[in-house]
Amino acid sequence: MNQHVVHVSEIGRARRVAAPERAVPATGVLLDRLSRPLTDLRISVTDRCNFRCSYCMPKEVFDKDYQYLPHSALLSFEEITRLARIFATHGVHKIRLTGGEPLLRKNLEVLVEQLAAIRTPQGAPLDLTLTTNGSLLARKAEALKAAGLNRVTVSLDGLDDTVFRSMNDVDFPVAQVLAGIDAAHAAGLGPIKVNMVVKRGTNEQEILPMARRFRGTGVVLRFIEYMDVGATNGWRMDEVLPSAEVVARIAEEFPLAPLEASAPGETAQRWAYRDGGGEIGVISSVTQAFCHDCSRARLSTEGKLYLCLFASSGHDLRPLLRGDADDAQIASAIGHIWQGRTDRYSELRALRGPDTDAAAPRRVEMSYIGG
Ligand code: SAM
Ligand code: SF4
Ligand code: SF4
Repeated sequence: MNQHVVHVSEIGRARRVAAPERAVPATGVLLDRLSRPLTDLRISVTDRCNFRCSYCMPKEVFDKDYQYLPHSALLSFEEITRLARIFATHGVHKIRLTGGEPLLRKNLEVLVEQLAAIRTPQGAPLDLTLTTNGSLLARKAEALKAAGLNRVTVSLDGLDDTVFRSMNDVDFPVAQVLAGIDAAHAAGLGPIKVNMVVKRGTNEQEILPMARRFRGTGVVLRFIEYMDVGATNGWRMDEVLPSAEVVARIAEEFPLAPLEASAPGETAQRWAYRDGGGEIGVISSVTQAFCHDCSRARLSTEGKLYLCLFASSGHDLRPLLRGDADDAQIASAIGHIWQGRTDRYSELRALRGPDTDAAAPRRVEMSYIGG
């Protein structure tokens, strides 16, 4: 038995949520203690993945002995949809399906269809997106579009097949992910975003080939700073390539001009190619924290609500869902939780360095709550 094996339910410690005594009715705007509204919900539909990216699910930890959640622990599509409908009454208008690898969840398009039927209090449909490693996208793109998915984000850490195979660590060929991106484009799941996590010394040489490949195609390429999420990836600051350096390297070949954020709470800083070849984005979670307008909550596969990517515990909504709480009581519980939120890990990291205290509670894994 691998000594690192930790059951996911231990990682995802949770407070059991009781229906609060003080009612917090849904008014369409819910603010936390730092006046940040809840607008964006990321839903993890599985804790499993067919890749073993070393920065997320390193092989040594996520091996054959690793215990994933049993099927009975997962929220059903009906439970997820019920929660999503309640979140929408609090002002959530964007939902991103994630994981693990979300396309591994069977019949995901059925969930997409249910979520696509939800309306905001103003009567608008939700902005429904999905983040995927792209491995199964070529097969699923059309069905997802037909079910009502608006857009996809595909994670792709390089174009060189050898680099890509070693980063996913399961020898998966890059050509199949590129075919998935083409299929998503053909199905109308655009504008497609492609996310590249940049690790200094590992795939930094892929930055320019990626920029050249996607420039002028309508795909928005975004570079993500390697983050100290979870507790298994052995993160080191010297492996972070600051976004400012990514922008400088690209601008040497293709001059860039800064663009305004497209929406409040936008995680990426946007840059336009000066010659009209489209735009890129950089997500600088390490060097330029954006907690001040973080409006995102995360729902784990088994129904725990996390208020920050770096949280060590969540709020367990499943007992409410599987008990006899009505929608108003669940809305009130969610309202109560969000109103108490003060999380701003990345800002604190910038002020006092990464949290390396071995005695601190273990942080939840990104593969468990999604990116
Ligand atoms: N499996 C899907 C995928 O890879 O797109 C969805 C889940 S994955 C956890 C979501 C995103 O988190 C991916 O874009 C991935 O690159 C990013 N990610 C995972 N670990 C990361 C880390 N340590 N630093 C920065 N981004 C990370
Ligand atoms: Fe899987 Fe996505 Fe994590 Fe890679 S980043 S191991 S594809 S969940
Ligand atoms: Fe939001 Fe937490 Fe990330 Fe800050 S560190 S932006 S609060 S998820």
